[in-house]
Amino acid sequence: MTTLSTYSIGVGDRFAHQAKAQLKACFLAGKAGVEVIPVWNKSNREHTIIGTDPSATRAAADAAVKTLGWTKPYFCDADHINLTTVDRFLAPCDFFTIDVADYIGKPADPASIDALVKRHSELVGHIHLEGIDSGIEITPELLRKTAEKFLFAIQEAARIYRKIEAAKGKGSFIPEVSMDETDSAQTPAELLIILAAIADEGIPIQTIAPKFSGRFNKGVDYVGDVSQFAREMALDMAAIRYAVAHYGLPASLKLSVHSGSDKFSIYPAIHAAMKDFSTGVHLKTAGTTWLEEIIGLAESGGDGLALAKEIYAEAFAHSAELWAPYATVIDIDPAKLPTPHDVAGWTSEQFTSALRHDPRSPAYNSSLRQLLHVGFKIAAKMGRRYLDLLEANEAIIAKNVTENLYARHIAPVFLGQNGVSPA
Ligand SMILES: [Zn+2]
Repeated sequence: MTTLSTYSIGVGDRFAHQAKAQLKACFLAGKAGVEVIPVWNKSNREHTIIGTDPSATRAAADAAVKTLGWTKPYFCDADHINLTTVDRFLAPCDFFTIDVADYIGKPADPASIDALVKRHSELVGHIHLEGIDSGIEITPELLRKTAEKFLFAIQEAARIYRKIEAAKGKGSFIPEVSMDETDSAQTPAELLIILAAIADEGIPIQTIAPKFSGRFNKGVDYVGDVSQFAREMALDMAAIRYAVAHYGLPASLKLSVHSGSDKFSIYPAIHAAMKDFSTGVHLKTAGTTWLEEIIGLAESGGDGLALAKEIYAEAFAHSAELWAPYATVIDIDPAKLPTPHDVAGWTSEQFTSALRHDPRSPAYNSSLRQLLHVGFKIAAKMGRRYLDLLEANEAIIAKNVTENLYARHIAPVFLGQNGVSPA
């Protein structure tokens, strides 16, 4: 069976030019003593906006692996697919994020709800979870309510899973079920019931992406109660361990954290929870590699800086339209956005320090960063003009991409190291 290792990182590469630089960050992890498996993820939404095909992500990943001589596993993730969008991902992908968030709350057939409640009467009462002092309580009402809320979504996940399995063969890919793009967080008790139902449906998931409490905006830090997040994550890990032991889910099952990148304030908590429960996570980052491309272009000065400013001006002019598809995962304060006129006068240093996510830097501007993050459509429209400059400035961009991924994500989450600089 194709198995996902304990530590894995999902990386986005909007324009399929940075796979080598991203893979270098995994080499650095290996040098520091941990195996971190790369998973290239790109959702149908991003492919549609840019006008690319999942086979391009596969080709870029394969080429990087070959060029750099990576001998460990790596995967291509059909990120947030559903029954209608999965087809073009079937051939090039070997990791499938089955997104059923839109089906939460839809009513399942009453007989199947009754059957689930009956089948899992063992879950009613006090459940002792290893590693958690208090355990969790599940009342008969909670069991039924959870079945009513989630069973239809789980049945939909099973329909999607079986379509993928029929096309690719059992055990030849990593299935994930994601429920993160929804309004309310799932509690650890709900997660346990969801896992029991997923096992009943015969989906051999290796990763599950619940929605955690707090805000996971794209490209910026976590907003929420860090200690509550830490408690929730510990309970979720304990619930997963319980479900693996009792319901026959794969032993490699772990949490997938759809971080939206840059959740620096919760990274220490994730690292600590992994140590406490001797487990790993799949840390999915968003396509913030594209922001490192802009930083590299701005840093290179000349035409690169001019293009970075042009992209900002366009993004500013079309901001409402750009952020609409991402409204639930970005918080831009329009008053904090500099005008394109201001930015036109900026030096490389002013541009990169506003965009680069260094929370200690007074020049860092999270509104500008989020606007540019959703502005990749502007660069996509530029076509060759953008790509030619990426290629002309490959070295300076690659340095930023590798450093960002390694020092800001891999080192704090998987090595428990903060503030490192890459070798
Ligand atoms: Zn997600």
